[in-house]
Amino acid sequence: MKNTLFLFFGILSFFQCTTPVAGPTTSTVERPNVIIILSDDQGWADVGFNGCTDIPTPNLDQLAKEGVVFKQGYATHPYCSPSRAGLLTGRYQQRFGHENNLPYTEATIEDGLPVEEVLISETLQRSGYATCAVGKWHLGDSARFWPNNQGFDDWYGFFGGGMSYWGDTGNKPAISGVLRNGQPVPPSEIHYLTDDFSREAVNYIEQYSKEDKPFFLYLAYNAPHTPLHATSEYMKVMEHQEDGERAVYGAMVYAMDRGIGEVVRKLKETGEYDNTLIFFYSDNGGALRGANNQPYRGHKGMLFEGGIRVPFCVSWPAVLPGGDVYEKPISALDIYPTILKAAGATHPQPQKLDGIDLMPFLTGKDLSKPHDELYWRYSDGAGYAVRKGKYKMIRSGYKQKFLLFDMDNDPFEQNNLASVMPEKLEELKDLYARWNRETIPARWYDPHGENVLKEEARRQDFIDGASKGEKRTGS
Ligand code: CA
Repeated sequence: MKNTLFLFFGILSFFQCTTPVAGPTTSTVERPNVIIILSDDQGWADVGFNGCTDIPTPNLDQLAKEGVVFKQGYATHPYCSPSRAGLLTGRYQQRFGHENNLPYTEATIEDGLPVEEVLISETLQRSGYATCAVGKWHLGDSARFWPNNQGFDDWYGFFGGGMSYWGDTGNKPAISGVLRNGQPVPPSEIHYLTDDFSREAVNYIEQYSKEDKPFFLYLAYNAPHTPLHATSEYMKVMEHQEDGERAVYGAMVYAMDRGIGEVVRKLKETGEYDNTLIFFYSDNGGALRGANNQPYRGHKGMLFEGGIRVPFCVSWPAVLPGGDVYEKPISALDIYPTILKAAGATHPQPQKLDGIDLMPFLTGKDLSKPHDELYWRYSDGAGYAVRKGKYKMIRSGYKQKFLLFDMDNDPFEQNNLASVMPEKLEELKDLYARWNRETIPARWYDPHGENVLKEEARRQDFIDGASKGEKRTGS
């Protein structure tokens, strides 16, 4: 039996005598288990529930079918580390200076998710949840930033942003490899990282399901992020794919999907599935190597939809009937307050959270929209974006220009309205400026920004080169 939340009839009756009370009905509600499954650099189109046909994802499709698919589910940032900082704090990462990936070399011991931020793991741990993190962390290289010091009872994974799937740390010390509660796991125990993470998640569920309290599992696969590694067994499902990178990438997605299937099977076997709230999404859009964000524009690192609109679904059979699609924009910022409310847990300063509890919207109790505006910013403001209603403004750092799109009529961002609707552009610029005043400068430089600049330069060189032999007419 899990702990329970009791709403007291007596108190409620007292208020009902004087003023009608809107709110939850009086009942004994069992607190749900909570699982966040994060994939890494998975393209919007790389799940069956968004129409993928070349990579099998039967388990994710089933999970989505038993829950709600978000058609406009946004990550909080177009790349890894800041996206996770937004997810786990429930706050725009620019509010606390974590808007860049951690420096790839020479990160200082000060570089990491500021410890004064209150992570979802900390609020759940304090309210009596068993908590564990499995997989990629990427929120600070120093031990004080690691999961065991950030609200997680247990941790199996690595602290960096990428990892050989065979557990090989190369010339780096063992501490940079796979750790269990901060101690290196012998390389002989690593088989294939995705399988190892799935196995550990299943074991934690088995262990925690026997305890007299609910659990929170943060399962952050690094799949299908590079390096492109896959076992020969998983490669068999992609034999039909003639693009080599797509074949390996697809096998990595398939491996993750298999693991998610094992997680769900264990939840069902232990009787925990119906009252487990599960969020699944990708931390940012697909990168260039093997992923597919079509029909959306752009990729990881960009604020076009391909960089931030991601495969996203939620399941909670005890509350959500399943088979639904939610069309309005939502953000990964909403995960924290949704979990908080479901778990009956409290944040010490709830007004600091930027998202909103999604359940009233998903159960049809609230027919309005979760967000009036959403914001993104990278590289200390080199690039940013605002979504307000059907309009989206992007300041592209590498194109050095403003773009404006009507997302209802042009969701693939092909018709730039910046010069056609200057007043709308100014309105969104003003909105951004107002939001931007609530933020602070980035705490460290942006190593990923250079990647995107190089990608853009290669793209432009290629385009310029393609028309070099063209016979031009006129002046
Ligand atoms: Ca990522």
